[in-house]
Amino acid sequence: MVNYYSADFILPATSEPLKNGTVAVGPDGAILGLYPEDSLSLQDVNVTKLEGIIVPGFINSHCHLELSYLYNKIPQKEGLLSFIKNIISLRKSLKNTEEVMREADRQMWENGIVAVADVSNNIDSKKIKENSSIYYYTFIELLSFEPDKAKDVFREGSELLEQFSPLHASIVPHAPYSASKELFRFIGKFCGETGSPVTIHNQESEDENKLYRYKSGEFLNFYKELGINIDFFKPQARNSIQSIIPLIPVQQKTMLVHNTYTSLKDIYFILRSNRSVTWCFCPNANLYIEDRLPKVEMFQYHDFNITVGTDSLASNTSLCMLSELKTLHLNFPGLLLTETINWATINGAKFLGIDKEYGSIEKGKRPGLNLITHTEGLKISAESKVQKLV
Ligand SMILES: [Zn+2]
Repeated sequence: MVNYYSADFILPATSEPLKNGTVAVGPDGAILGLYPEDSLSLQDVNVTKLEGIIVPGFINSHCHLELSYLYNKIPQKEGLLSFIKNIISLRKSLKNTEEVMREADRQMWENGIVAVADVSNNIDSKKIKENSSIYYYTFIELLSFEPDKAKDVFREGSELLEQFSPLHASIVPHAPYSASKELFRFIGKFCGETGSPVTIHNQESEDENKLYRYKSGEFLNFYKELGINIDFFKPQARNSIQSIIPLIPVQQKTMLVHNTYTSLKDIYFILRSNRSVTWCFCPNANLYIEDRLPKVEMFQYHDFNITVGTDSLASNTSLCMLSELKTLHLNFPGLLLTETINWATINGAKFLGIDKEYGSIEKGKRPGLNLITHTEGLKISAESKVQKLV
């Protein structure tokens, strides 16, 4: 059976918004057609009329399903280092369970998320991903700031990658402060050979920049507490991003996540580098951890591929892309929904290489369809809700 849905607006993401438009969907979720208002071809069909805006299924560009068990366990707004220390100690005292990950997966599906770029440190989430209706791409995240441990850490990562087979997965560095040059070299070689995309947490705290610029700040104490000797590390006289980007093969698609302390100089550095860089924002997690947002406006005038992620339930109260969009629009009133919907859909699909199927409402794709309610024209409101249609 073919279903016809019309709404105040349809936002296809790759074409202009359709006011009072209609979309036809086949039984398998395939888009069969998009029709403007008063289309003659719709005269004899039953159209379900809805109030709100129909958008493609959401692509969550950053999550850690395996951290779902840390929901509501870590105090808010204490900064990144305090957050990481909490994760380290809670990992020892609490046990991850399949139930909480299944619940998080279900929550994402109900909130209209159809694909997730998920960061994993272990195999815990595999079974959930295998049985989920959501498309998962797993980024196996490696951590080792000590150069002499790089080889072992990379080998363990390669073993984990094999365990995730046949699911889509690749190996990536965790963050500039937790990956040595040597580890970057191994990962760079792997990505160069496989063509896999790279994703890395970037500039989530000002201390990360301080570490790279001057070898100062809170990270020095942090390493000391962990018993890690960083005598080998020399101050780089520039922000972390400018030091690590050259360590990634130039042709590799790279997604930088968070960017809370990225400066205009850093942005110009990336522009000059001629790389395919995607910036991913996780605004609710940024407020949860650092109580600060990236300077979003700085990024939007340069034709960058921008995406949005929820991060995990360790640093967020829900896994909901609409909540992330609400936070963005509340704090940056100049943003247009026609723009941010692309961040939450097609741009993430492009980064993951799944845009033939997902990310926009186009004939032949099976992108999933969401209705955003409580809208005004092409604007969402604090009361807006997401309802999964397909
Ligand atoms: Zn993360």
